[in-house]
Amino acid sequence: MSDANLETQSSFSTQKRGFFASGEEVWQWWQEAQQSAIAADIPSEEATWLLQQSSALSNLDVRLERFKQQPQIELAMPLEELVQRWQQRIQQRIPVQYLAGSSPWRNFQLKVSSAVLIPRPETELLIDLALRHLPPALCPLPSHWTDLGTGSGAIALGLATAFPHATIHAVDCSGEALAIAQFNAKTYRLTERIQFYQGVWFEPLAHLKGCLDGMVSNPPYIPSQMVLELEPEVAHHEPHLALDGGNDGLDCIRHLVTVAPEYLRSSGIWLIELMAGQAASVVALLQANGNYCDVHIHQDLAGIERFVSAIRT
Ligand code: GLN
Repeated sequence: MSDANLETQSSFSTQKRGFFASGEEVWQWWQEAQQSAIAADIPSEEATWLLQQSSALSNLDVRLERFKQQPQIELAMPLEELVQRWQQRIQQRIPVQYLAGSSPWRNFQLKVSSAVLIPRPETELLIDLALRHLPPALCPLPSHWTDLGTGSGAIALGLATAFPHATIHAVDCSGEALAIAQFNAKTYRLTERIQFYQGVWFEPLAHLKGCLDGMVSNPPYIPSQMVLELEPEVAHHEPHLALDGGNDGLDCIRHLVTVAPEYLRSSGIWLIELMAGQAASVVALLQANGNYCDVHIHQDLAGIERFVSAIRT
């Protein structure tokens, strides 16, 4: 599994339900699922999380095994289906978030499919960095932000919540990804605040030239050769379109450095996520461009240089 945070929330309340199994049967599956996880070197907590996502059981119900005695447990799918999905986890290494169809990120429970990258916990910090740059009290009204390569819409939803008066322009070249992002915006009643565009990076935003207060992106940044060597969950199941950044991983980032100055207003922020080891090159690209100042590297919670920000002069 990738490093996504599986601590919180359940999508059970928003799913189809009405399937039942006895507590004993569910408990039995859960025991076996945890054993098979350990044998396959997968965190056994994933089985617990999938059970919680597929039922109304709370964390405590599961951890204290209180459900074992219950005559009936309501599930979002037949128990056989849960069994099959878990087998896919073990045998095909499909990430558990794709099997559950959802992933927690900041305070959201986002719908995900293999058309979108599973939003990572470290990416959550992009929103805090945007907030640090422009506390909402100082934010111009109305402000305009873009999330380029929105995928599941995570960053766009995060920005829309962080900046209650902003309009977020979320772009992705994948129609399938946009459909997921739109679904997520609808779930959180943010459709009026987020505009969606299908297209390549800034291309659909010609009407916003010189007007953007911020550009935020988690672009594909993994060198092509390295994508194939990632853990099977990522290499075989996550969209390479969202991962592969070309030969040195910097193809998309170079494009964003070059084109953003046309779209950002003066003092607007340029903010991206990148991979360990890329920060110095990206700082050099921004400095060489000549349209940026206040170029900064930011670490994630693991102390990895994970983000770079710059201000449009
Ligand atoms: N953080 C993702 C990973 O670890 C990569 C995301 C990206 O390329 N933008 O696989």
